[in-house]
Amino acid sequence: MNQNITIPFIEGDGIGPEIWAVTKQIIDKAVAVSYEGKNKIEWVEILAGMNAIEKTGLPLPDETIAEIKKHKIAIKGPLTTPVGEGFKSINVQLRQILDLYACVRPMGYIKGVKSELKHPEKINMTVFRENTEDLYGGIEFKMNSKEVHEILDIVKNSNSKGYVHFPDTTAIALKIVSKQASERLIRSAINYAIAHKLPSVTIVHKGNILKFTEGGFRNWGYALAKEEFPDQTYTWDTKDSVDTSNRILIQDRIADAFFQDIILNPQKHAVVASTNLNGDYISDAIAGCIGGIGISPGANINYKTGMAIFEATHGSAPDIAGKDIANPLSLIFSGVMMLHHIGWTAAANLIDAAAKQLILKGKVTGDLSITKAALSCSEFGKALIEEMTSAN
Ligand code: NAD
Repeated sequence: MNQNITIPFIEGDGIGPEIWAVTKQIIDKAVAVSYEGKNKIEWVEILAGMNAIEKTGLPLPDETIAEIKKHKIAIKGPLTTPVGEGFKSINVQLRQILDLYACVRPMGYIKGVKSELKHPEKINMTVFRENTEDLYGGIEFKMNSKEVHEILDIVKNSNSKGYVHFPDTTAIALKIVSKQASERLIRSAINYAIAHKLPSVTIVHKGNILKFTEGGFRNWGYALAKEEFPDQTYTWDTKDSVDTSNRILIQDRIADAFFQDIILNPQKHAVVASTNLNGDYISDAIAGCIGGIGISPGANINYKTGMAIFEATHGSAPDIAGKDIANPLSLIFSGVMMLHHIGWTAAANLIDAAAKQLILKGKVTGDLSITKAALSCSEFGKALIEEMTSAN
């Protein structure tokens, strides 16, 4: 049966156009080869970021949101966000407006990738980062010390005891963590562990310091696992009273200790669920141990509506933009996640296997290369097409 699907794409800023051009070629080729021309993706360009400002005057035009809502899917390159001034991150706006509450980043060591770790092969983790709240609400104020104290007087129920020193020039940000958003993220992480037959979900938090927000995330997570997955999960406390052989361990780690675990004990963690800011740091730290953000894929998903945006997880890399040296693999592997999402598994597997084969052969871009003989971004694209077609 012939299948056509329309997928909106955002090319992205900086290295975005270079890596998108290669990614699009690879996805189109894999689909053509896998389904002998019967399946086709109709790509529709939608605007966001610097490109959108140039063409429409707005960083995130309404049509972009409308088009993603219509098709319930999109793929995007990285977008530049001004630091310390300017408009709110478009990435964050997309996630919040479309309620794409889970940022999912599967990260496993790929044979042949250079790593600073002695045993990078022990890393096989999927991070579920809460995507809609925490400090990413971006709600912040500039205040003097008197105003800060007035607020603390109003918020009697705060955990601020002992903290009395506010210099006169102070900025405050709201960290919002709700039970509902925490639960749906942790529920998705547990469902993912069940679907992929993974042994554990680690809730990573800073609940020792932030007892209501980060501590809430942890406590709501444990309670949810107990209430909604009583037969599929266990904890260290219930370990001796149940048969754990087909169950998922729900455990938690304080964020600082978890960062140590990424390097010393990564095999103890399969799925990781965390709040927005922790999850952001954690994802890049894990990626850095196994080849870097240049090869790390990601998706922003609402599991209830099925809407998803697949994206390169790195930024727009202004330091290498326009040089044709960026690694397109983060966006290509995100494309692989997208093909799985729409059920086009043969095309997904073809790209995945060929890319891993190229890495093993050392045919990689400069960020992954251990020799000086690195491929450019576009050369890597050509080599990947050759690998896919010769493999078939
Ligand atoms: P960055 O990810 O752009 O770059 C960090 C480092 O990684 C740089 O040295 C860069 O050259 C390298 N790098 C990144 N992607 C690479 C690739 N594909 N191949 C090879 N090397 C790669 O982070 P930054 O410099 O902190 O941020 C630049 C801009 O990107 C900022 O405006 C930031 O807000 C934005 N940003 C966007 C996203 C997103 O769109 N999802 C994510 C992170 C940062």
